[in-house]
Amino acid sequence: GRVAPPLAALSQVLRLERSRRTAIVFPLQKLERHLAPGTDTARFRLFQPGLAALQRAEALFRSDRGHPIDYVSSAVRTDHAPPPALPEVCFIGRSNVGKSSLIRALFSLAPEVEVRVSKTPGHTKKMNFFKVGKYFTLVDMPGYGYRAPQDFVEMVEAYLQERRNLKRTFLLVDGVVGLQKTDHIAVEMLEEFGIPYVMVLTKIDRASRGVLLKNVLEIQEFVKKGTQGCFPQLFLVSSVEFSGIHLLRCFVAHVTGNLPTVEAS
Ligand code: GDP
Repeated sequence: GRVAPPLAALSQVLRLERSRRTAIVFPLQKLERHLAPGTDTARFRLFQPGLAALQRAEALFRSDRGHPIDYVSSAVRTDHAPPPALPEVCFIGRSNVGKSSLIRALFSLAPEVEVRVSKTPGHTKKMNFFKVGKYFTLVDMPGYGYRAPQDFVEMVEAYLQERRNLKRTFLLVDGVVGLQKTDHIAVEMLEEFGIPYVMVLTKIDRASRGVLLKNVLEIQEFVKKGTQGCFPQLFLVSSVEFSGIHLLRCFVAHVTGNLPTVEAS
């Protein structure tokens, strides 16, 4: 198996000095300090678990003999998906947004998990199902592109509309370029279906603070004014530096009903 990267585990993060630790665990909070005084930041702290909840969530993402984390199967149609027995979350986003890197980072404490990438043009794009013990399933949806083939759109739409055990959809947005036209199309689809989703800003290590602040504020404003089903707090991640990964694991654990109580930090 692979070796888990530095900071993949909370125990490693806890050894950092305080401000660096906050930047890794709560990247949005870190950014807050650079906002103009008076900016409404209530939405930055809606989900703010304490250490105990973060640790419980991490345990879910750490595999062992009694708690296997595995790739289950791939499907091009919802009726070929595994039985909807467990609570489920799915990850969608444009090709190249950093989706496979993010899923790999989330599963970095289960090094035997293979996050497959099928990027060969013309290759059938599939939904990949991962099972996290007996607790939840995570679905890697195919990346959508500017000219997504119709059968692809139909597969994703059918999945989102039909999957009864789907608890939350994670819509990934590139932190460097912000919301793009195709992201808006995805938002419209999620809004139309009335299913709960949350936006995740990726590759934050690549964006300058100015660019990141601009994108965060623009998206928070858009979510507030233009959406119904989107969780008001944006999640920021870097799969390279591991910022936001522990918090996202905790949110996944929470929305799948695996963290009965989330005490504030
Ligand atoms: P996907 O097509 O959405 O699965 O995207 P990938 O995960 O393959 O990422 C696309 C490109 O962005 C790759 O070159 C990754 O190395 C890079 N990338 C992904 N996530 C990050 C990140 O958090 N930080 C940085 N700097 N690069 C990233």
